[in-house]
Amino acid sequence: MIEQLRAQLGPAALVTGAEMHGYLQEWRGTYTSDALAVVLPGSVADVQTIVRLASEHDVSLVPQGGNTGLVGGAVANPTQLIVNLTRLNRIRSLDRDNASMLVEAGCTLDIARQAAAAEGLLLALDLSSAGSCQIGGNVSTNAGGVNVLRYGSIRQQVLGLEVVTASGDVFDATQALRKNNSGYDLKQLFIGAEGTLGIVTAVHLCLFAQPQQRTVMWVSVPDVQAVVHCFGLLRERFSGNVSAFELIPDIAVQFVTQHMSGMRRVSDARGVHALIELHDVSPDARPLQGVVAHMAAQYPAFDAVIATSEAQAQMMWGLRHHISDAQRCEGASVKHDIALPISQIAPFIESVLPEIERLVTGIRPVIFGHIGDGNLHFNLSQPVGVAADAFRAHTVALNDLVNNAVIAYGGTVSAEHGIGLQKRAWLERQVGGSGVAMMRAIKQALDPEHRFNPGKIL
Ligand code: FAD
Repeated sequence: MIEQLRAQLGPAALVTGAEMHGYLQEWRGTYTSDALAVVLPGSVADVQTIVRLASEHDVSLVPQGGNTGLVGGAVANPTQLIVNLTRLNRIRSLDRDNASMLVEAGCTLDIARQAAAAEGLLLALDLSSAGSCQIGGNVSTNAGGVNVLRYGSIRQQVLGLEVVTASGDVFDATQALRKNNSGYDLKQLFIGAEGTLGIVTAVHLCLFAQPQQRTVMWVSVPDVQAVVHCFGLLRERFSGNVSAFELIPDIAVQFVTQHMSGMRRVSDARGVHALIELHDVSPDARPLQGVVAHMAAQYPAFDAVIATSEAQAQMMWGLRHHISDAQRCEGASVKHDIALPISQIAPFIESVLPEIERLVTGIRPVIFGHIGDGNLHFNLSQPVGVAADAFRAHTVALNDLVNNAVIAYGGTVSAEHGIGLQKRAWLERQVGGSGVAMMRAIKQALDPEHRFNPGKIL
């Protein structure tokens, strides 16, 4: 099969042996990956050839983008072929009047954002991994990121899709339509499917006007409930103009300022912080001043800083974006990507933290994330002075404790990273037996030979 692929796709499309190294490295190093080979299609026809040859030789395929997914979705074993979309990376078209662009799956999010910005438009999806992750990976994980509050996850931004299916045919649903009720909305099945139903080759995305004004604020309050309160006030006053509302605990600020060069505190206030971005709202707007006054009256320790320059806004965002890297400098951690109804965030944290501390004395919770859409990165750093392996030995117990509590509080154990390999055991608890049965039926209908990413999600 490798020789047939080399002959039909050209030598540049095949990576084998030690040269596969870069494609086998999972971002966090949690999973070990290997593969028969890595194949780099340069066209949609190449992808069709790969799928047809895979069927002929009964080889399964693992679609891969930037490999920044964090749940083992793009990990392969030595019998599987990784199909990495990097070379399929053109911007096929950008339609200003329709505010849309058709992008091939292997285009990185950064490049796609830049292409939209060059035309004065906004591609709203934005993640810290934007330099590496690809549009096809973003669609396959239904990526969220920092702008979900205003613009939604990528599912809300996809107008059309092109997918190579298990038969090797192209499912062309790339029309850039904002309304289209023609039976089942099949493209939705491939969004968030983690490469288990087909290989996404192109995506039609809707674009937005660039915001005329950005107001970036750093707010400090005594506790998480006060952060939730602040978010509620802003949402009531500004509704769709709140673009980001990120929870940042003080321990994260300590880690970032200690380990990341050039990073410093926004203010001396401690407690819990929120990083807020409002679009098309002036910092002098009376309703914004009203929220600040209301919070200050209610919480004596309240502090708010509105960025007065782009550099200050970037420093605030830097404190947020560097948390994961800084946390890594503090040793081992056990991480959870969860979401809860916003009203349940504070009660959940209050009830689960003492139990966690009882299980591992001295554990350091670093709970941050997109509080505006209820999504928390519930990360737990090892106690100071404890061996990393001794701490990691608690992983299963910590996962059980956190995930059971999440479900009890009406949340999800997989908010934005997906199920992959990591969360399979929790899927049935999350969606129920009938939910899993429907997913299996869909998989069977679209990929009867289990060609695409077997063992992931289901
Ligand atoms: P990969 O990791 O390569 O693949 C992910 C899954 O999609 C796999 O199951 C793979 O098989 C499948 N896949 C990839 N390409 C295709 C394709 N063309 N067709 C079919 N299936 C395909 N995620 C968020 O949602 N919000 C965040 O804020 C966020 N922040 C992050 C910050 C950092 C520092 C990192 C490392 C990750 C972050 N992520 C975030 C997770 C990750 O970046 C996203 O899940 C991203 O969408 C994955 O894209 P990728 O191209 O790297 O996909």
